[in-house]
Parts: sequence; C-alpha cells; structure tokens
Amino acid sequence: MSDKISNGTLNAANWRPATQMVHGGTSRSQFGETSEAMFLTQGFVYDSAQAAEARFKGEDEGFIYSRYANPTVDMFEKRMCALEGAEDARATASGMAAVSAALLCQLNAGDHVVSARALFGSCRWVVETLMPKYGIETTLIDGTDLENWQRAVKPNTKVFFLESPTNPTLEVIDIAGVAKIADAIGARVVVDNVFATPLYQKPLDLGAHIVVYSATKHIDGQGRCLGGIVLSSKDWIDEHLHDYFRHTGPSLSPFNAWTLLKGLETLPLRVQQQTQSARKIADHLASLNAINRVIYPGRPDHPQADLVQKQMSGGSTLVAFEIAGGKEAAFAFENALEIIRISNNLGDAKSLITHPATTTHKNLAEEARTELGITDATVRLSVGLEDAQDLIDDIDRALGAV
Ligand SMILES: *Cc1c(COP(=O)(O)O)cnc(C)c1O
Repeated sequence: MSDKISNGTLNAANWRPATQMVHGGTSRSQFGETSEAMFLTQGFVYDSAQAAEARFKGEDEGFIYSRYANPTVDMFEKRMCALEGAEDARATASGMAAVSAALLCQLNAGDHVVSARALFGSCRWVVETLMPKYGIETTLIDGTDLENWQRAVKPNTKVFFLESPTNPTLEVIDIAGVAKIADAIGARVVVDNVFATPLYQKPLDLGAHIVVYSATKHIDGQGRCLGGIVLSSKDWIDEHLHDYFRHTGPSLSPFNAWTLLKGLETLPLRVQQQTQSARKIADHLASLNAINRVIYPGRPDHPQADLVQKQMSGGSTLVAFEIAGGKEAAFAFENALEIIRISNNLGDAKSLITHPATTTHKNLAEEARTELGITDATVRLSVGLEDAQDLIDDIDRALGAV
C-alpha cells in the first residue's frame, strides 16, 4: 500500500509532536518515495470527460487545480492539522494572506471586530485601515485586560482578533478568557499564534475558533520562503473559507509547501534550542547595568508570568530589551554586532535584531507606540541556532562599544 502513512493520518493525532512533524500528512505516490514529493503542477488530467464531470461534482475525490488544492500543499496542511489538533486547514502564500483570509472570509459590511491593539504592523493595517473601507467596524483595545474585551462588545460584534505573545513587547493575552467572552455572544476568536509557535501554545484547546500562522517564521525557520496557514473546524472552513479561498487565490506554491514540510521535520529541535539560548541571553541581559529592561516570557519578572505558566508550555525564541541611552545607543549597539544581523524577520536559524520604532512599527503614531511599550531604546532579538555563548560574547562586545 503506497499511502499507508496517509491512511494512518488519523492516528497522527495520538502521536507526540516530533513524530507528527516528521510523518504527519505524508502521502506517497506509486513510487514509494521516502521524502515528500514536490508536485509542481498547475492542473490535473482526467481519464475521461465523465471523470472530469464527477470530480467537479464532488462525486470523485481528487485534485482539480492547484489554486484549490495540490498534493504537496495538502501534505503540509494535513501535517499542520495533526500538530495543531485542527480538523481542516488552508495553506496560503504568506502569513498576511492567512490573516486577511481568516478575517475577511467571515465578515460582512456592518459587522464589528474587536482586536487587541498590540499587533504585527500589517495585521494592524488590515484591522484599522482596510476593514473600515468595506464597512466593517473595528475597535482596538489593550487586550491584556479581559474587561476591555467585554466592554468593547456591541450587538454586531462577530470576531475577536489577537496575537499572543505580541510583537515586539511580548505581552500575553488570556486566550481562554477571551474565548469565554466570545462564546457568550456567539463571536469567533482568531489567534495569530506566530510568536508562540505550534509547539508552545494550542489556541484551539484554549477555546479559540481559528488559528493563523505566518509559516515564514519558525515553520520554515531557515529564511527561505514565505508561507501561511489558517486552521479551524471543518464546518467553519466549509462555510466561510472554502469558496473565499478558491476564488480569491491566496494559494501556497507547491515548492514552498515542500520547503515548509522539510522545515516542520526539524521544528521541535530548532525551537527548543533557540528557546534555551534565548532564555540564557535574557538572563544575561537582565544582569547588565547597560540594559534598562528585559521582557522574556518564561522569566519570573515577565509582567504576566502567571498567565505564561498557565497557557504556554514553553518560553520564546524572542527577547525584547531596552538599552540605556535611547535610540542613539540602540543604533550604536546594533551596528557594533558581528554575529547577530540587523533584520526585521524572526524565527530564523540566524540571530536577527530589529529596532521596532524605526522599522516594523514605524507607521504607528508615537502615542500608539508608547501605548504598546515600544520606546526609542527598545530592540527585539530573535535568537537563532548559533552557540549561545558566542551570541552573549557578541552582545557584550557590542555593548562595550556603545
Ligand atoms: C510575520 C508575521 C505576520 C505576517 O507574515 P508574512 O509571512 O510576513 O506575511 C503576521 N503576524 C505575525 C505575528 C508575524 O510575525
């Protein structure tokens, strides 16, 4: 049987994550290849006109066109479903394609969305600028206080949207608490789970209805390609996302799906190692006079340390910190680093640092930045796979040069 593993996909739900990420969703061709096959094809041929008719009618299962579905993309979706504990998923060309599809496919003009204000810049643009253009009302709140979610509810509230931990200040939002408020009014909770990774936080188990990822980050984890995914119940996807996805075309390329499948195989190894190093670096930074503040989920001085314990099973591969001396010192520090490179990406094998106020969050008004705790001295470090001691040496050397 060439598709033994594929038939066993249902059992993948019982496998532990590392096993799911190597075998989940695998579907072998008649050649029995070990590694997942890359189906670089736009379309599929049918043996007869009748077969084409049956496939379009949905009487015969099979692929029609790669904008709808593709065997390599399908493997990536199934592997992510096994890992996330989701019934169904659609993979997208980027994280933003996933976010915008997950939100827009279920909203109508006249609906209201409540969103945490601490969002990845492009997510905030979708909520704050794009949605109102189409008559969707939005309210941005400080999502760390549950009462704000309740207070923002209106009769037409349909969707709650949040990211946790947030970018870049690593605030944590009580997903189970938000889900409870949403359930009481029949609204749905969409969680952008990029910073937590699929390993450390399970939004669906916490009561969220839809999970989105930028697979560009830890899932690829090696700086090669963009990708994203929306995961939810089969009913929600059938009702809201299925047609939207087919006809607006945010589909993931099979080549990138293959790259992401390979990324998933090593996700636990990479994320665990990067987390361990990030924790070491956060502890080191906290001991230095040149650093005014360190934010790291998993350290006891994180503002929501109890919630981190309760809803996450691991820390973070990211550390946010403030350098004494403001923007000038932060720039001098970044410029003096030799191993850690300046880049706005994250989750990569290479350690990357960014100054959010002048890059990822430059479009926010100063007041909005202040609300989010982003100062001129804040930098965000994404810890890679280098030796942690080399990274600490690099940081110490660069601080010495400031
Ligand atoms: C990067 C990122 C996105 C967007 O993903 P792309 O793949 O760059 O489109 C969305 N949300 C968060 C939290 C991110 O970090």
